[in-house]
Amino acid sequence: GGPSCVIVVGMFPELVSGSDREALRFGEQALTYGELAEVAGGLAGHLRGRGRVAVWATPTIETCAAVVGALVAGVPVVPLNPKVGERELAHIIDDSTPEMLLAAPHAALPPGLAKIPTLHVLLERGDPTPPPVEPAPETPAFVVYTSGTTGPPKGVVLPRRAVTSNLDALAEVWEWTERDVLVHGLPLFHVHGLIVGVLGPLRRGGSVRHLGRFSSRAVGQALTTGATMMFGVPTMYHRLAMDCADDPGLAKAVGGARLLVSGSAALPATDHQRLAETTGQRVVERYGMTETLMNCSVRASGDRRPGAVGLPLPGVSLRLVGDAGELLDAHDGETVGEIEVTGDNLFLGYLNRQDATDAVMNDGWFRTGDMAVRDPDGYVRIVGRRATDLIKSGGYKIGAGEIENALLEHPAVAEVAVTGEPDEDLGERIVAWVVPSGAEPAPEELADHVARLLAPHKRPRVVRYLESLPRNDMGKVMKRSLAPRRTQP
Ligand code: ATP
Ligand code: MG
Repeated sequence: GGPSCVIVVGMFPELVSGSDREALRFGEQALTYGELAEVAGGLAGHLRGRGRVAVWATPTIETCAAVVGALVAGVPVVPLNPKVGERELAHIIDDSTPEMLLAAPHAALPPGLAKIPTLHVLLERGDPTPPPVEPAPETPAFVVYTSGTTGPPKGVVLPRRAVTSNLDALAEVWEWTERDVLVHGLPLFHVHGLIVGVLGPLRRGGSVRHLGRFSSRAVGQALTTGATMMFGVPTMYHRLAMDCADDPGLAKAVGGARLLVSGSAALPATDHQRLAETTGQRVVERYGMTETLMNCSVRASGDRRPGAVGLPLPGVSLRLVGDAGELLDAHDGETVGEIEVTGDNLFLGYLNRQDATDAVMNDGWFRTGDMAVRDPDGYVRIVGRRATDLIKSGGYKIGAGEIENALLEHPAVAEVAVTGEPDEDLGERIVAWVVPSGAEPAPEELADHVARLLAPHKRPRVVRYLESLPRNDMGKVMKRSLAPRRTQP
């Protein structure tokens, strides 16, 4: 028995009923491409013709099936962070007005969602579905809310064209094939974990092994049992670098991977180097954001160097713009400008926020808010965000990341974030928020260390010690919420 019709979807050419190749594995649960085609086909039957649907994006195989089902049906998906607070959830629901909610059967849904009709995603083969008509490329595929690192989350409307073109560009630069098996430990409600991490392999015909929760041991195990690549955020590579230094077996497993990719925030040079020393792996960086998907990456076969996010992806145009709006041509590794991008990867706009959309668009180019320099060969190096990472002190423009990297080279520093604070004399003064690795070092020692490695004007004027840095679910430091706890003048 079972469905007899073949489901072929333009977005996922391998999604064909009858295929017995593994697509997804979450612990004990797995789906082949054939099973996923039938599960998604069944869901699509319930969804076709609807408006937006929200997906309660727990790290489960049901979340992936729900998203693929909605994409097959041509219905835009609003992924919801299952750890989101009440107020933020209410904002997202009011803003995106989903017609339906898709959730795994065992999911504990908060009261704020009670009003929305809910469809529990069962991993059952669906009814025979007529082959779907591929929606037009400009049809919205997702409304993804930004991390809210710099303000309240905005709903980013991403068309199908952005998703497919970006995944194809990544496949090209990462030399991605159907033989690749991805180790995945990220949440499923952002671009990184969901679009790149799940839809990327599915579009390519590869497979995903989700770890549920990231641990170095689980990564090592996956890499010794067939996995070929890993996508992660810098906090994961930090853990992996520390653990590989202690465990030669793990270091060997990690060394056997074809590709490790880091993104969502800057990978500290110390972690890049530590991993290279213990495992021989040079982590590839990629740079992107919700509004544009991925903009840059280092090629799998390219020169993998610490601190660089590589070249614009095929189909993505990138330029650096100075303070007065002038184009900067420099490739000197020094001239800092704001990154603007354009290409098929661009979003359609922020949902219900034409004002915010207009504010970030510059004649067809998206103002990223990120500052960068270019190496002579075009490799882009992110200096930091204009809003929080660019410190104007004593007539100099100083990037927080450079000082953070220098401080991480000091043995007494475990984690660090650098910010600017208003200062009567300097305009802004440099503040270092330090999580010490043991006893607190003297602030002058850290300040001298930076002045010696970089330049005297880059010396932190204030050092504040913390037990941990405030981070979001992707491990990004929330610089906006750094508040003084104990000051060492
Ligand atoms: P919000 O827009 O709500 O303030 P956010 O910008 O953190 O939040 P995302 O779209 O998830 O939300 O993150 C994109 C940002 O992450 C980029 O603009 C950039 O600042 C940063 N980023 C991503 N990859 C890298 C990288 N490899 N190196 C440095 N920064 C990165
Ligand atoms: Mg942003």
